Amino acid sequence: MSVDRGTAWPYDERGEPGTFIYQRYAHPTGTAAEEDLGALEGGEALLYSSGTAAVTACVFALCRPGSTIALAEGAYFGTGVTFAQFAPWGLNVVEFDQTGAPPDEADVVWLESPSNPLLTLPNWDAIRGHAGVVVCDTTASTPVFLRALDEGADVVLHSATKYLTGHHDALIGATVTRDLQLRERLYSARMRLGLSAAPDAAAMLRRGLDTLEVRVRRQTETATELASRLAGHPKVLRVRYPGLGGLISFDVADGSERAVETSTTLIANQTSLGGVRSTMESRHRWEGDRIPLGLLRLSVGLEDADALWADLSAALDKA
Ligand code: PLP
Repeated sequence: MSVDRGTAWPYDERGEPGTFIYQRYAHPTGTAAEEDLGALEGGEALLYSSGTAAVTACVFALCRPGSTIALAEGAYFGTGVTFAQFAPWGLNVVEFDQTGAPPDEADVVWLESPSNPLLTLPNWDAIRGHAGVVVCDTTASTPVFLRALDEGADVVLHSATKYLTGHHDALIGATVTRDLQLRERLYSARMRLGLSAAPDAAAMLRRGLDTLEVRVRRQTETATELASRLAGHPKVLRVRYPGLGGLISFDVADGSERAVETSTTLIANQTSLGGVRSTMESRHRWEGDRIPLGLLRLSVGLEDADALWADLSAALDKA
């Protein structure tokens, strides 16, 4: 796949700018990847330098001093931390249980499907009709399982660093919307705040989208099998798995999580998720008491299910 890494393109013979002017505004690989993702989600996609950059663009585009964001409890820890950076500029954040109704007074309702790592799903019936702008982070569902714009979201957000690129080799984020005014506000935030995605990361996104469906379906099959085997293991206290995607979280006795995560050999002990290689980590050290000490988050890759179970069960038996 060829990547145009130019940062600026020549004006035409009359001295007029063409489609591509300066890389921060837009570039050919990014635009092509936006078209690919937009077609999958059914909307207009924009890419950013990371999922967090996409979150930042949303705050600038959708909020004003005094605005309130209702954030799904248990949503990706870093999203709440990013919102907290805006407290000095007058942003209010309230948390709510996304399996129920969001607070009426919210200007923005922020969902995550499924939430990472507690893996709750939004209650779309309770959300539809809310007066605020509804953003749904579908990083872990991917459009293979959820086209949130069809469910009632105004903006879909991805850390495309995860499943959409799929190989742990590109940092990139995305939003998708059908509302052209929202798209313009997001585009302006991206361009003026310098949040644009690099051409190489956009190329990795295009490569990832080509295999997204087969990867995610296979990961779901394996995760379904592993979730059921985990539920039957005597060292496992609780399994959370919503039945879609490759993300599972499960609890072992408090204090034994470190022994489990450091004993696997096929499953890498590292952060992040959504790659073709399985990864696992305990989350308490990053997120604190909002999640159980013994919680392990497992991102199932494309390895053989029996080989993964042999690795996981040996680590559990040892702990
Ligand atoms: N949203 C979710 C659900 C995530 O898991 C993450 C990162 O782990 C992000 C957003 C932030 O994305 P990035 O790390 O690409 O900035």
